[in-house]
Amino acid sequence: MSTTYDVAVIGLGGMGSAAAWHLARRGQRVVGFEQFDPVHDRGSSHGSTRLVRQAYYEDPRYVPLLVRAYELWDELGSLTGSPALQRTGGLMLGPRDGAVVTGTLASAEQWGLPHRLLDADEVMRRHPAFRLRPDEVAVHEPAAGFVVPERTIADHLDLAAAAGAALHFRTDVQGWELTATGVRVHTGTAGFDAGRLVVCAGPWSTRVLADHGLPLVVERHLVHWFAPGGDPARFAADRLPGLADHWLSGTACMYTVTPDRNFVVGSVAGTDGRVTVAAGFSGHGFKFVPVIGEIVADLATHGSTALDISLFDPRRFDPAPVA
Ligand SMILES: Cc1cc2nc3c(=O)[nH]c(=O)nc-3n(C[C@H](O)[C@H](O)[C@H](O)COP(=O)(O)OP(=O)(O)OC[C@H]3O[C@@H](n4cnc5c(N)ncnc54)[C@H](O)[C@@H]3O)c2cc1C
Repeated sequence: MSTTYDVAVIGLGGMGSAAAWHLARRGQRVVGFEQFDPVHDRGSSHGSTRLVRQAYYEDPRYVPLLVRAYELWDELGSLTGSPALQRTGGLMLGPRDGAVVTGTLASAEQWGLPHRLLDADEVMRRHPAFRLRPDEVAVHEPAAGFVVPERTIADHLDLAAAAGAALHFRTDVQGWELTATGVRVHTGTAGFDAGRLVVCAGPWSTRVLADHGLPLVVERHLVHWFAPGGDPARFAADRLPGLADHWLSGTACMYTVTPDRNFVVGSVAGTDGRVTVAAGFSGHGFKFVPVIGEIVADLATHGSTALDISLFDPRRFDPAPVA
């Protein structure tokens, strides 16, 4: 069986669900594939909360993407009738001359983002949950907050389906190939033809793009929740003394890490622009979900995007030519 679509999306987790929505909203005929159920807990996008912030210590070149992401988080909230991004304010803590504090300040100052530098005493007075050393400070960013990853994915999937996307769950993509007119995606039982392919396979990206040599390393991270109050827990007592030693629950979650910890977003080499990858989010990608969805839709529909994504160029890992 073969069906023709404009764009096929492999992986309907954080990035793929947003890509499916941003493609479908433009009138593209979208088919999406997810190997598990919708909103599962086996990839990188579960665990109830994701920190969102704009004063990006990692690199100020991320900030314009975050400014656009905030617009799209707010739009998502408007579309669903309930805010997607909760602005709580956030603290970036560390030594005054450390990479986190100096990088956060540099990004905030370069892009004119509201922020305030607090010394250790002021942090502990205003935010008594935290214990800092005397030489430590915090940058307070009022626009920081959190999103709920499970809800984000569910909302993007619902919007994509309502806009006409054909979404296949419990459907493992076992391979894909270039054809004379586009791309063919193979599941266990069928082939699907599309003009373009988007790969948002998270920790499985090297399997889906096995012949394309992306240097992605998957790390397994453990997340734990503790009840507040009571006796301090030994592991966090020096920083969060109000945590009880009463363990509530835990889960494992995966990072897909690049050598420089910057993302991989762009055209896959050797595919004539027909295959776009969005992967390697290196443990800090969720805050970008809606803007990555929009960028991927730009790339898949007209080959370029107005935002600067040169930092994420997949070709930066190509071996240098031998002189
Ligand atoms: C513990 C933890 C905390 C984090 N905290 C933050 C934070 O505070 N702020 C922040 O910005 N980021 C954070 N991140 C990072 C962020 O969550 C990830 O960067 C983001 O979720 C990656 O999304 P993704 O779409 O690439 O991967 P996923 O959401 O895992 O999606 C990939 C999907 O592809 C599917 N798939 C793969 N192969 C196939 C196939 N062959 N066929 C069909 N389907 C397939 C998978 O089943 C999966 O659903 C955190 C990550 C973890 C693990």
